[in-house]
Amino acid sequence: MTSQELFNRAIRVIPGGVNSPVRAFNSVGGDPLYVVSGKGARIRTVEGAELLDFCGSWGPLIMGHAHPEVVDAICRAAAEGTSFGINTPREVEFAECLCSMVPSMKMVRVMSSGTEATMTAIRLARGFTGRRKIVKFDGGYHGHADYLLVAAGSGLLTGGITSSAGVSATAAAEVLVPPYNNLAAVDEIVRTQGDEIAAIIVEPVAGNMGLIPPAPGFLKGLRDAADRCGALLIFDEVITGFRLGPTTYGMLCGVTPDLTCLGKIIGGGMPVGAVGGREDVMRKLAPLGPVYQAGTLSGNPVALAAGLATMALIRRENPYSRMEKLGRQLTDGVNAAARENGLTLHCAGLGGLFTPFFMAGVPTDLATVKQCDTKAYAAFFRGMLKRGIYLPPSQFEVGFVSAAHSEQDIGQFIKAARETLEEQE
Ligand SMILES: *Cc1c(COP(=O)(O)O)cnc(C)c1O
Repeated sequence: MTSQELFNRAIRVIPGGVNSPVRAFNSVGGDPLYVVSGKGARIRTVEGAELLDFCGSWGPLIMGHAHPEVVDAICRAAAEGTSFGINTPREVEFAECLCSMVPSMKMVRVMSSGTEATMTAIRLARGFTGRRKIVKFDGGYHGHADYLLVAAGSGLLTGGITSSAGVSATAAAEVLVPPYNNLAAVDEIVRTQGDEIAAIIVEPVAGNMGLIPPAPGFLKGLRDAADRCGALLIFDEVITGFRLGPTTYGMLCGVTPDLTCLGKIIGGGMPVGAVGGREDVMRKLAPLGPVYQAGTLSGNPVALAAGLATMALIRRENPYSRMEKLGRQLTDGVNAAARENGLTLHCAGLGGLFTPFFMAGVPTDLATVKQCDTKAYAAFFRGMLKRGIYLPPSQFEVGFVSAAHSEQDIGQFIKAARETLEEQE
């Protein structure tokens, strides 16, 4: 079976042939790949091609594919039973681990995805404040709950869907959408509607419209704005949690949110999400409080085994300065190659995160990101793939350098980028 044959079968039985729209190649052209295995920084396709992977399952695989310690933990846990619907010791260990690595989280509730984490955080904020409205940023992606699909990034942005169909007008009307990095717009919303706002939810480093770091003072300004109107500040750290240091970005940058949403890395490649934060807020969750949240597979023992093994590796190896160095090498290399070829391209980077933006200047919000030449990104994606490098199949996503990448891997990336950009000139 080739990828093309599999995709032809898939499109008959799966809408668009994919179980998540970001896996489609609609914006870069060609048929999606089918992968059979991965090891470290590499994946193998059904055709037997080995690719250097810079998508990393969209973020979870900070230690690389099939890390032996993670695989071992999963196998042992599975052999002991895959689900009980009864408390297991690992849940206690996992919650203690998160709370100790993220001191702003006094209590934590664990679930099975980032979407559930943001949904729960918003419900908690509404239950706690008794208010309805939420502030989310233009191009921010917080999973696929109805009201969070208004002006959302990631697959909606790639697919040209401004806001999802099927979301009721009432739900959408309760969402206020200022531009990212625009404190003045937030202040205006707070001034006029502050007493109706339950929460401000933000990706502290935007990662679902490509990589856009917060402007100096932006996150502190959001903290002040939330305090001024009595709303909760929610950091959606599903990408940034444990990505830029062995904790959250909130802890690293010194701005403390009321609630933090986690996902991706904390599951080490298995389905785990979590929300944690202020004890008085977390105590509103059932069965202690009136805000309901539940899950048959929440805190699943096999998933938590993968998460705990990943956290143990992060603590032991502390790969962050190395990933940052490799990330800087990658972005510097791509930017140099672009300059030499006279191409308008800016490769943004932070830690191991990166996005080659095909535009002049540095984007700061969704409006500037939209100036990107998505056709040029598509050509870059295809040129890199031809040379054995797998990138996210969209201009509006971040690439990931993992702890499994080596200096040689980054060298291979830069060489391929150089050749591709020369071709694109
Ligand atoms: C991926 C992501 C989510 C959703 O997580 P899922 O596990 O896909 O439901 C939420 N917020 C951000 C910032 C994400 O990147």
